[in-house]
Amino acid sequence: MLFVTCRRCRKSFDASSGHPLKKCPLCGAPVFLPESSRRNTERVEIRKGCVLFKGGLGLDATAVDISPAGAGVVLKERQSFEPDEEIRLVIEELDIDTTARVVWSDVGSEKGSTAGLVFSP
Ligand SMILES: [Zn+2]
Repeated sequence: MLFVTCRRCRKSFDASSGHPLKKCPLCGAPVFLPESSRRNTERVEIRKGCVLFKGGLGLDATAVDISPAGAGVVLKERQSFEPDEEIRLVIEELDIDTTARVVWSDVGSEKGSTAGLVFSP
């Protein structure tokens, strides 16, 4: 048994099997399993528009992979991050609005930047 708590309705349920992205059986919100459930930490490739809030600034980005522990994003513009910088990540389509820590980033070229984020507990 692996009990996780839904970020939206705050109810707990058993999520011990299957896909890393699970939906809350009570309200349907996507639920991300804790980092400690190792067999569920594989990353899933996605392509969803998202917004990173860095200070007061909202940056348009695309989430390109996601796991219970974090997400990879591609930003449309060159953007640098401090190591361990805390940002807010909003992926409306997945009903995600969370703080996250930048674990790596690549300023890249005019084509954009990439960053790896770990969700804050
Ligand atoms: Zn729920």
